[in-house]
Amino acid sequence: MSSDRPRFIVDTMLGKLARYLRILGYDTKYSTELRDEEIINECLLGRILLTSDKQLHLSASTRKCVAIHIPSGLQIPEMLALLAREGLVELSIDITKSRCPICNGELKREPDKANSHLGRRYETYICRRCGNIYWIGKHWRTMLRIINEAKKHASGPS
Ligand SMILES: [Zn+2]
Repeated sequence: MSSDRPRFIVDTMLGKLARYLRILGYDTKYSTELRDEEIINECLLGRILLTSDKQLHLSASTRKCVAIHIPSGLQIPEMLALLAREGLVELSIDITKSRCPICNGELKREPDKANSHLGRRYETYICRRCGNIYWIGKHWRTMLRIINEAKKHASGPS
């Protein structure tokens, strides 16, 4: 287990960002059922809080845990670029390190036959926790494109 990478707790409004962080391989806790107090608790336990909620950001900051305010209205590439500029995330996908975008579980490689019904062999992964299956197909390439867009934002003028 690599514990040197940052772990995140993401507020209930930033579910899409949570999915991208998981795909990038970051251990990211997110649930629409978490109350503010539980979110702050995760932050106190060492996860970096990402929130668009100014009040939540303020109460986390005054309790001395690391919280980043994500301005509302930003698109995913801009949010990711902001985190890259802060030095918190690296914008490159290594699927062997990716986590399940749905449940944050770790992925493992599956024999390619799992997707033979698609008429084509794709590199296929299964979530160790929820069993969801992922393959390197069209959807995955769309996410790569968004991450590349984020890279451009991160290296351009702020
Ligand atoms: Zn899963």
